[in-house]
Amino acid sequence: MTVTKRRRAKADPVTAWHRRLKRYRPSLMADTLAALETMYGRPEWQRVYDPTSELILTILSANSADINAEKAFDALCRHWPGTAAGGSGYRSGWGGVGITESGADWAAVAGAPLDELIDVIRPGGLAPTKAPRIQAVLRKILDERGDFALEFLADMSPQEALAWLTAIPGIGRKTASVVLLFSFGMPLMPVDRHIERVSKRIGLLPPKATAEQAHDLLQAQLEPARVHEAHVNLITHGRQTCHALRPECLRCEIAPRCRYINPKAP
Ligand code: SF4
Repeated sequence: MTVTKRRRAKADPVTAWHRRLKRYRPSLMADTLAALETMYGRPEWQRVYDPTSELILTILSANSADINAEKAFDALCRHWPGTAAGGSGYRSGWGGVGITESGADWAAVAGAPLDELIDVIRPGGLAPTKAPRIQAVLRKILDERGDFALEFLADMSPQEALAWLTAIPGIGRKTASVVLLFSFGMPLMPVDRHIERVSKRIGLLPPKATAEQAHDLLQAQLEPARVHEAHVNLITHGRQTCHALRPECLRCEIAPRCRYINPKAP
């Protein structure tokens, strides 16, 4: 291999990691997905919310317990009710009974007095930070598009849609990927703290991978059709079995291939 080629290979850590797993730990992702399916079933993608509602819900979820984010979203929708529901209006929640409302009047939310919005979403936590962020994001969408709808993203490629959303200040890679995966079924892998922890323990991610790198490193190992399943089941596993403290390895189907309990696992 020439020096130039060696340099190029080093410059692409995603490809390098993918090749390394393929060579030294073949079928690791496939075996992980199979084990997760045995434990939790195979989740089917189904749109629940329009992308604007999904976006605001995701902002409310950042660094908050899901049960609190769900309460804040419901409170926001009740305080400024929307005229048109964007989806089925209900989905079971990760943390609580789930969300019962189905979207808000986003113009009213964008134009509301900041103090009022902070009060309404206070149950979600970090309201003084999230309220201005929500208003800034909504106002930017209005500036760019003339309304608050994000359905036009369906006509873009996943990478174009990701670039459009992340160009808006306040929308990061994880938030944008959640919106595009759940509202449109685009094969983008959002990585939260559960997915990062579980994946590092198994060895699907290098121990020092940053949260930002983790998106690309995991996505490269997944067929597009299995991204939603991988996202949902890895989170479920992190919540129900592979806890941050005291993971329940004795009842875990992934154990034979997990480097957390056996550093030499195949
Ligand atoms: S074996 Fe333990 S650490 Fe590994 S994935 Fe299962 S629960 Fe997590």
